[in-house]
Amino acid sequence: MEKIGVLALQGSFAEHLQILGRIPGIEATAVKTIDELNAVDRLILPGGESTAIGKLLVKTGMFPVLRQRIGEGLPVWGTCAGLILLAHEIVGETPYLDVMNITVRRNAYGSQLDSFCCEQIIPAFGSDPLPLVFIRAPWIEKAGQEVEVLAGHDGRIIAAKQGRLLVTSFHPELTDDKKVYNYFLRL
Ligand code: GLN
Repeated sequence: MEKIGVLALQGSFAEHLQILGRIPGIEATAVKTIDELNAVDRLILPGGESTAIGKLLVKTGMFPVLRQRIGEGLPVWGTCAGLILLAHEIVGETPYLDVMNITVRRNAYGSQLDSFCCEQIIPAFGSDPLPLVFIRAPWIEKAGQEVEVLAGHDGRIIAAKQGRLLVTSFHPELTDDKKVYNYFLRL
């Protein structure tokens, strides 16, 4: 059975684990150590605070291991803060894993008060409208040639894919919609 890990250092990992637990045919597991990281077939980097998750990745020793596993083809889905961690460039800040050719702007939609929800059809994920929850969300300002843009919102890129890396600036784990999970599990 495929083992799907969720990085569980900070942020909305419990919500991801809960949804994964309702998808048949996979095993969902929290990842907090190098050994747990090495045991998974796919990994979700949850939303939260990219600065905190970035520091904890270094502290636990997982940072170089994760970079190496991504280089070897580990499928990874970054939601919100997770998207920021994967980016090659963060406007005005130093990048973290630097494995996906995107330039992102943190807190691009404003502060906590500017968090919002909407619905949108994103054909890559399915033909019905998908609920989108944005919480101090980043957007993607620039995507390199090898990046496939999957969705935009008000002229900004909010979902993209590069090889086995998927990023969304919104939070599917805070809805009951499994479309993006199904997409990620097929990557
Ligand atoms: N603003 C957060 C950051 O910069 C991301 C917000 C989120 O993950 N909901 O890391």
